[in-house]
Amino acid sequence: MSASPVPTGFDNRRDPFWMPFTPMRGFRREPLLFERAEGVHYLTPDGTRILDGMAGLWCVNAGHGQPRIVEAIRASAGVLDFVSSFKMTHPAARAYARRLCDFAPEGLDHVFFVNSGSEAVDTALKIARGYHHARGQGGRTRFIGRAKGYHGMGFGGLSVSGIGRHKAAFGPLLEAAHLPLPYERASMAFSPAQPQPNEAASAALEALLQVQDPATVAAVIVEPVTGSGGVYPPPRGYLEHLRAICDRHGILLIFDEVITGFGRLGTPFASQFYGVTPDLITCAKGMTNGAVPMGGVLLSGAVHDAFMAGPPEAIELLHGYTYSAHPLACAAGLATLDVFAEQAILAQATEGFPHWRDTAFALRDQPSVVDIRIAGWLCAIDLAPRPGADSQRGALCARLCLEAGLLLRNVGDTLILSPPLVMQPETVSELFATIAAALERVD
Ligand code: PLP
Repeated sequence: MSASPVPTGFDNRRDPFWMPFTPMRGFRREPLLFERAEGVHYLTPDGTRILDGMAGLWCVNAGHGQPRIVEAIRASAGVLDFVSSFKMTHPAARAYARRLCDFAPEGLDHVFFVNSGSEAVDTALKIARGYHHARGQGGRTRFIGRAKGYHGMGFGGLSVSGIGRHKAAFGPLLEAAHLPLPYERASMAFSPAQPQPNEAASAALEALLQVQDPATVAAVIVEPVTGSGGVYPPPRGYLEHLRAICDRHGILLIFDEVITGFGRLGTPFASQFYGVTPDLITCAKGMTNGAVPMGGVLLSGAVHDAFMAGPPEAIELLHGYTYSAHPLACAAGLATLDVFAEQAILAQATEGFPHWRDTAFALRDQPSVVDIRIAGWLCAIDLAPRPGADSQRGALCARLCLEAGLLLRNVGDTLILSPPLVMQPETVSELFATIAAALERVD
């Protein structure tokens, strides 16, 4: 018999919660619990305040415990706990759809509601295939993603993801090819904004379409700024180039804005920040300020209308989820847009940005820092790996920060930050001072 993978001394049965993306055996030894959240802080059960450098998980963009959102959820639960969206709906769903499309880039004037980013991506991929099918081009089934792209954990999102280790255990996926990451440390390290235009990166899609017959490709999907793969902003001209090539070949362009949506770059979506409009946008997280699970696919009138040509009694898109447009989520979504308007969250984000960027870049002189990338209120700090011990330096630094009261993420040796957009300048300074102190302790 093989040895048990569970170390002696554990009774896993006493702890039935199998947590996502968590090394469970290590976690059970050293659990981390947050009991409350206020503004830009979490509180542990013993009352320790932890500065939230991640806006939860890239979602609490307007800060924790926004009273208007809390009240909207409470009120909604007392009025309409649930109604299906299959062949019926409710006022908040219609109101939120309208307001969301007004918030979205011009031309994206329809929304399909789901419950998470993963569902949004799988839905967008299905809409892309369905769109071509409805137009008599059912042979367009392939997708093109990008290296280091993260698109959630459904089989569709995993297929277009550019992170190999996420796929290793799960067998055959959808047919997808991948663009290279448009990043080259030698010429792009410490770029204060978008890196210089990069010819090789821009030419990559054309090169791929010489290998993949363009007439078989349904959609290209990218995060406008690669997020959890390590915060890589697009070089200047790159997104424009993708748009032009997709148009030339009749391929749909999908921006996965699950992270970049809802103000991360100071505009509603990154699409508006970079001035490039895709055919579909996937969103989630910040939609409800993280308070209720929700996702959505925003799509152009042209994509929507392609489905509307069949018999009028037919269901145009045989797709949906029990909790699509859940009343609590719609109420939270509407309240989030109210908070954005009343508290000028986008203006706050834009005003706070220079201090955020400059304070981040002040870390460039730390000996182990080899690159810092910024896109709006996203920041990645690349550390040189310890020889023969990849990820150790990043993990240790993240741990020291947590001990000092700052929550951030490390992806290998890259430290990632994505705080609430309402973080005040003195708190931003405190955040980077905590990282600097941790870096000084990590050899
Ligand atoms: N797409 C992107 C760009 C994401 O960053 C994420 C999650 O981080 C997802 C999709 C998946 O979202 P969810 O975890 O809500 O399914």
